[in-house]
Amino acid sequence: MSLSYTAQNSGAWQTYLTQIDRVTPYLDADLGNFINTLKRPKRTLIVDVPIVMDDGTIRHFEGYRVQHNLSRGPGKGGIRYHHDVELNEVMALSAWMTIKTAVLNLPFGGAKGGVRVNPKELSPRELERLTRRFTSEISSIIGPQIDIPAPDVGTNANIMGWMMDTYSSIKGHTVTGVVTGKPVHLGGSLGRVRATGRGVFVTGLEVAKRINLPVAGSKVAVQGFGNVGNEAAYLFSQAGAKVVCVQDHTGTIFNAEGFNVKALQKHVAEHGGVMGFVDATVITDEAFWDVDMDILIPAALEGQITVERAQKLKAKIVLEGANGPTYPEADDVFVSRNITVVPDVICNAGGVTVSYFEWVQDMASYFWSEDEINERLDKLMIQAMGDVWNTAAQKECSLRTAAYILACERILKARKERGIFPG
Ligand code: NAD
Repeated sequence: MSLSYTAQNSGAWQTYLTQIDRVTPYLDADLGNFINTLKRPKRTLIVDVPIVMDDGTIRHFEGYRVQHNLSRGPGKGGIRYHHDVELNEVMALSAWMTIKTAVLNLPFGGAKGGVRVNPKELSPRELERLTRRFTSEISSIIGPQIDIPAPDVGTNANIMGWMMDTYSSIKGHTVTGVVTGKPVHLGGSLGRVRATGRGVFVTGLEVAKRINLPVAGSKVAVQGFGNVGNEAAYLFSQAGAKVVCVQDHTGTIFNAEGFNVKALQKHVAEHGGVMGFVDATVITDEAFWDVDMDILIPAALEGQITVERAQKLKAKIVLEGANGPTYPEADDVFVSRNITVVPDVICNAGGVTVSYFEWVQDMASYFWSEDEINERLDKLMIQAMGDVWNTAAQKECSLRTAAYILACERILKARKERGIFPG
């Protein structure tokens, strides 16, 4: 990718603040009075994470947990392991979680965490030590009724298992509900791993139907072929769409006839990236944005869609699998070009929705089947997508602003009705 990740993500919090400024004129004055509550995180913890490396040396890593807003319930949000993680980015990601849980009307606030580390450079034992020490450092502000972490970029179910075990050791008893996205045999939920990609697909279908774009035969391009991107690509291919272009950290591949997504998943599992896949033409990373496509799924990292890229993009629908992939100025270009953007705060909310189901199942110690999970997930996503679509039509605004209107009304109403302590 030609844009540097660090340069792009350092503006993530600014992007979020611009989004809040854009929604403010749509809010009733009595709620608008509380808008500043969304412009700063409630609580921010920066921790030093020292670990003993396999060679006996000691290395220090910097970690964060940010609780952006807790007005509607415990904090909820993932833990990112990436070598460019920084506070500004974690703050933005936590704020987007506040909006996301409210758009889906889940009883949570928003939080996010991260450690500045390249997990691929650590051995499995080092990764475990890092995870356990980080969990111990943030243990005073997490808990099933306080703040519930989950996986994000660079973390996975195994890491959530270690987090749950470490927290449980500190508490002296098993506390499954402290994290979601755990392995199924440790209180995880069926359907969680694929939930975010599934939500991208479900919201995509809803919008395609409304703009009369037949999904069968449509051309799809996906940036990022990890947890989110690969499942979304698979479901679109199953629905008859052609996945014509895929980009990941190893490069960009193209096939006008559409890839065999199952075979590509297998290749990525074996080789760690899309490069080297058969039946593919390698194109430059920047050429990704020129490809003839109907649907774009950014599913890698934030800060990818600039004004220049938005101006030349051929897609009719953008499904934001990633968090914060589009700059506010690029959003304006999409509005003027009549390109429909399904914003991250609803498009990729499938993961947090099934995380909510996992938390509910852990609380009850009673587990549902995968069909039940998917049925409930589809129902909530379709309902929320319909609400956002209708709000956009009513207020004559973009889907992003509509999602923010719905979310901010719910959050600020909760804030107002709780009152400001000590009154
Ligand atoms: P992942 O680590 O499984 O996959 C990330 C993908 O992005 C990989 O294919 C990687 O190769 C690619 N990538 C990384 N750097 C890249 C670069 N410079 N250029 C092109 N591709 C690059 O992560 P994920 O869980 O799939 O998350 C992807 C995005 O979706 C993130 O923005 C994340 O916050 C968001 N998200 C994830 C979930 C979830 O449940 N996993 C939920 C909501 C939002």
